[in-house]
Amino acid sequence: MREVDGILDFLEEYDLLRPPESVDDDVRIGRVGPDEQIAEVDWAYLTSGDFVADDLQMASDGGLTADVLGGLGIARSNAELDRRQSEAIPPPWDSCAWYAPMHYYGPRWGIYIREDCLEKLMIEISWFAWDSPRTHKTVLDLRLAAFFVLFLHEHFHHKLEGFGIRLALADRAAPDHYLRYDRAVYRATVGTDDNIEEALANADAYQRLGDQPYHRLLPSAIRRALRRWMKWRFMHVDPPGYRMARHYLTPGKLADGAARLQTQVLEARVAPTSNPAHWQAGPNMLRSVFPITSDIYLVIPPGSTASFRLSARPYTVSVRQARKWLKDNGFAELPGRGKGDHERYERSDGLQVGLDGGARELSRNIERTIAKALGVSQRELRLAVSEGRPL
Ligand SMILES: [Zn+2]
Repeated sequence: MREVDGILDFLEEYDLLRPPESVDDDVRIGRVGPDEQIAEVDWAYLTSGDFVADDLQMASDGGLTADVLGGLGIARSNAELDRRQSEAIPPPWDSCAWYAPMHYYGPRWGIYIREDCLEKLMIEISWFAWDSPRTHKTVLDLRLAAFFVLFLHEHFHHKLEGFGIRLALADRAAPDHYLRYDRAVYRATVGTDDNIEEALANADAYQRLGDQPYHRLLPSAIRRALRRWMKWRFMHVDPPGYRMARHYLTPGKLADGAARLQTQVLEARVAPTSNPAHWQAGPNMLRSVFPITSDIYLVIPPGSTASFRLSARPYTVSVRQARKWLKDNGFAELPGRGKGDHERYERSDGLQVGLDGGARELSRNIERTIAKALGVSQRELRLAVSEGRPL
């Protein structure tokens, strides 16, 4: 997506790209194991409404259906819910899914959702689905609900980064608001009830279940179940910070909280001094910089399969594919020109690019350098290399 390339260029020019490690050319993002697969979700298909309908045609997974329907609606009994509270899964927020901000992850940014969490999550949400029928369709709807609730929480973090990027664009003399906020406010308060970003990420997800496309895609009984489950987590299960979502569950309270958070980002202080009410004069600043319909990834453990249809776009290409593509497209290797495993290639017009010959997958940072040299988006380059065709 071209917008992304433009934002990364802007962040780079203003020295706002901060890789988590100083030299981090690894393809894989922190919490993804070397044998796990990262694959992009086909968002257009997922939100078309065909997803559940198509899956209904397929044979149901009997074990999962039994697990989910076995506890369907049990939370209606307080005694049963109290008993189950000890079985509640660890907080899913930011462990089952996470947002990798552009400021830190550059071209590897995105929303990552762990496939292996979805089942546990849908079982827990099912406890609250006492007004849903005991059908295979309910199981599929719960799976979608589990996915969306994680997505929406992480999407709030993306929206906040979008706000930080807006501030940077407008304030180029001191553009590092987001990074300063992250250090002085987010990291300083995470794990405590003073961290309002996590509370608002939860509360915003709660609220947005009523917006499209979620309202249309999730049956009302499933949305009710999901909100009951969220409220229960906010009241009884979630850790400090996250649990404070319970104070922001109406649109007015959420807007007030968001205004305070924006002021924290602006000033990079836990207790900002400027009046948060002024944000009402500039609404819609806390949102994503562009509609996010890509860069939403499933992290799939070895031996598992994705619950959702995947996009045809690969997460990475191999170094072997990239090497072959360069040679097929007019580049020749310059022998002895790279340090260690580094390889350099030159085109007849003098354009040079490099590859890390020691790596298995082409790092997204190197891929970005090559794409920039060729004047195309990273996505265009990746697709051309993976399909072995010219740009
Ligand atoms: Zn979070």
